[in-house]
Amino acid sequence: MEENSPEDNKSFSDYGVCDTLCQAIDNLGWKHPSSIQRDVFKVALQEDQNKDIIAIAETGSGKTGAFAIPIIQRLIDNPQRMYALIVTPTRELAFQISEQFEALGSSVGLKTAVIVGGIDMVQQALALARKPHVVVGTPGRLVDHLENTKGFSLSSMKYLVLDEADRCLSMDFEEAIDKILSCFPKERVTYLFSATMTQKVVKLQRASLRDPVKIQVSSKYQTVSTLIQQYLFIPAKYKECYLAYIMNEFRGKSSILFVSTCSSSQLLTLFLRNLGFKAVCINGNLSQVKRLGALNKFKEGARNILIATDVASRGLDIPEVDLVV
Ligand code: AMP
Repeated sequence: MEENSPEDNKSFSDYGVCDTLCQAIDNLGWKHPSSIQRDVFKVALQEDQNKDIIAIAETGSGKTGAFAIPIIQRLIDNPQRMYALIVTPTRELAFQISEQFEALGSSVGLKTAVIVGGIDMVQQALALARKPHVVVGTPGRLVDHLENTKGFSLSSMKYLVLDEADRCLSMDFEEAIDKILSCFPKERVTYLFSATMTQKVVKLQRASLRDPVKIQVSSKYQTVSTLIQQYLFIPAKYKECYLAYIMNEFRGKSSILFVSTCSSSQLLTLFLRNLGFKAVCINGNLSQVKRLGALNKFKEGARNILIATDVASRGLDIPEVDLVV
């Protein structure tokens, strides 16, 4: 939780958000801007719309709204297709970001296209040909389309957002991001969002941002006070046995288990299912349809244990989780 400050009670319109968007925000049930949103709006909506921004903020801080709202507001003032490109490291995040754009822009008919791996290129090419307002994608597949899809270009784009930039770069998307940057118009507004300031992020910032405003929200309150953290030191060969015990203690509760490899996620899922648990796994070996299906089953509560590799380690917006192993 954040500490209370007088700014906490200010409304979205106090920071220059237009009425149309305030209505959409109200429909989402957001009462006040989060601190990253306040800081970004002060620059992007109040001081200088053309300013580049580098923001150090983690998932859960409301960062998607922080970049989506100024972009949509500007789009309302200057309606134009192929207006913004959002680059994000994982496919699930791309869908999540696109959903938030569409929810915020629903009353103005905002259209997005999600361009990620694991989904038919032709379908995506058709979606791009319909000229959405906002394209959200993962670096590799975006480059694939830039190289192979006739008519797809970034030349009319005004906004570039690099979301989870540190993760993008640590997953070796550097080359793909360079390619995207080289195809992007020089006259643009760039927002770079990152959870941490790694060397590669500093390099990217120097190369692709112009005199950016730096925004960093306090990370002091990021772990909620009600979270209980425990460390269990156990013999490796009895791991499954301990796990079964813990899962039994938390039977019926919603849990996420993180594992390091795709095969162990599959193995553990079978292990827990055999013990009568409602487990489902998500990993990079599954098709995108299956990945989204697993995530939806977990979000809806049809399965209450999600066994995940790091494809799900950041940014997923799941309202209630009782246990993370
Ligand atoms: P993000 O950090 O963008 O992944 O957002 C995390 C969650 O916070 C999402 O479920 C958003 O819908 C929600 N959210 C974003 N901004 C606000 C806000 N100002 N008030 C309440 N919830 C918000």
